[in-house]
Amino acid sequence: MEALNSLLLLLNEPLVQFFLWVAVLYIIAAIFVDRRVSFWISSISATYFWVKTQDPAVALRAWFVVLAVFTVVLIARYLFHMNIVLFLKGKKRCPMCCEEAYRKAKVCPHCHYSFTSESDECREDKF
Ligand SMILES: [Zn+2]
Repeated sequence: MEALNSLLLLLNEPLVQFFLWVAVLYIIAAIFVDRRVSFWISSISATYFWVKTQDPAVALRAWFVVLAVFTVVLIARYLFHMNIVLFLKGKKRCPMCCEEAYRKAKVCPHCHYSFTSESDECREDKF
């Protein structure tokens, strides 16, 4: 009950509502277009809706959160050559074909390249 109450309290938070909107729009947009495009469609349209009908300060705070997350991801990518999204999925990129493989895999499931170590992976220095 305690957990449910705190969850309901969280749903009353405008910032959480904003991100729920973005998530719903993202899922709808991802059916029709590429994931990266749907990210922009969902975030920009949610921001537009929020500025028009709700508190613009919430949209501003949400974008601040998004920028903070982007900064962390970019710092990890360029300074530590680490892909946080792949890391959270428990995967790495094959140095031969750059496809995703499980971090503990000894052989790439796509091109059958033999990994020499767990850190043997495709560097992602560019987008
Ligand atoms: Zn491969």
